[in-house]
Amino acid sequence: MERTYIDELKCGEIQKIQGFVDAKRDQKTIQFIIIRDTTGKVQVTVFKPERPEIAEIFSNLNVNSVVTIEGQVVENASVKLGGREFIPESVKVESYAEVSPIDEHTAIDMRLDYRWLDLREGNKDLIFKIQTCCTNALREFLLQRRFVEIHTPKIIATASESGSDVFELKYFDKRAYLAQSPQFYKQMAMCAGLERIFECAPVFRAEQSYTSRHATEFTGFDIEFSYIDSFEDVMKLEEELLTYMLTKVKEQYGDIIAKEFGKEVIVPTLPFPRMKLADVYKELEERYDFVVDDIEKGDLTTEAEKLVYKLAQEKYNHEFMFITDYDAKKRAFYHMRNAEGVPQGYDLIWRGVEITTGAQREHRYDVLKAQAEEKGLKKDVEFYLEFFKYGCPPHGGFGIGLDRITMLLLELPSIKEAMFIFRGPNRLLP
Ligand code: ATP
Repeated sequence: MERTYIDELKCGEIQKIQGFVDAKRDQKTIQFIIIRDTTGKVQVTVFKPERPEIAEIFSNLNVNSVVTIEGQVVENASVKLGGREFIPESVKVESYAEVSPIDEHTAIDMRLDYRWLDLREGNKDLIFKIQTCCTNALREFLLQRRFVEIHTPKIIATASESGSDVFELKYFDKRAYLAQSPQFYKQMAMCAGLERIFECAPVFRAEQSYTSRHATEFTGFDIEFSYIDSFEDVMKLEEELLTYMLTKVKEQYGDIIAKEFGKEVIVPTLPFPRMKLADVYKELEERYDFVVDDIEKGDLTTEAEKLVYKLAQEKYNHEFMFITDYDAKKRAFYHMRNAEGVPQGYDLIWRGVEITTGAQREHRYDVLKAQAEEKGLKKDVEFYLEFFKYGCPPHGGFGIGLDRITMLLLELPSIKEAMFIFRGPNRLLP
């Protein structure tokens, strides 16, 4: 007999369900067993005097065991779980579970030790269904606009951007590194004439960060495209892309997110507000008495990032804010600069957290080389600079942190909860 998913069960037919024992209540003459599969839960009711052999099997099972049950669904208005119950004819135990070492009160670090059990609880599987909806929407939008998906190497010969924050690894008798960004290869694709590309792939950062939004390995959704006029084109593509994504998430999961996470999915209006970094600091001071040292004003501090959410809401009634005109000292050497030396790029802040850095890139070999040298980069970027010697279209792009998007969308307390498996400075297992 073929398996029926719990959300497809119909009354009056013998059907087969498979799943975890989610909960169990053993009374004198009756047992209530909740079975869970990826689509939902159903109550299995066993009348002990009628089916002693089945009752015996369930009596000896712990919650979390895996079972296959054949039987039929009958309506029963008194059952809280959907007004129906499953009356079993036969039960096969596929796997006996030991008593779980964690429950909903266990602290996050121990829950992560047993992540596969942690994910069985509550609404956690939904996080990944929603994340799938996000990546699917991002792909769909880009594929409709002539973008091509590429896959760039993660084992690389030189420390990509600055030499700091990269993991080293032994590569036979040589040293190699784990890519901290697909940046150089995205740009190589522009030089190869691919014109519009994206990649969804792991990114590695050897950062000793213990915040709620940093991981040492995360998933980056990266985009690069040619023949732009300015970084305005890059921001425009990104705001349209994210609006499309949130529209799809709201359509497919808006009600579920409201019910299960108590959060509203807000589809933003276009265009997203844009502010120059200096103006942001000025307004933060005027509005909220927020002051930072002048030496910190070339970049957005974490505190300022949080306040930008408040500013975006109060000034623009918006959840997003593009911030432009950072100090060239704080930006990567490959960002194009204007005649005044201002980097032609931005960060995008959503709900008080940076989710993207984007820019028009410098595609002129001599300028790019000079900007690399100014940052003390020579040997490591030699192979990259070669790309630009043989013709390169003007181009730009951005990278979105997918795990951060998921965390912010569902307002999870930490990126640890938004990732299938979290990697941090102190975590390499499971
Ligand atoms: P931050 O300043 O928050 O450390 P960054 O400036 O190093 O981020 P980028 O190098 O611009 O970030 O990376 C692009 C995007 O990747 C970021 O906007 C963010 O969404 C995501 N990201 C960066 N670092 C991490 C990390 N350690 N863990 C999870 N996501 C990250």
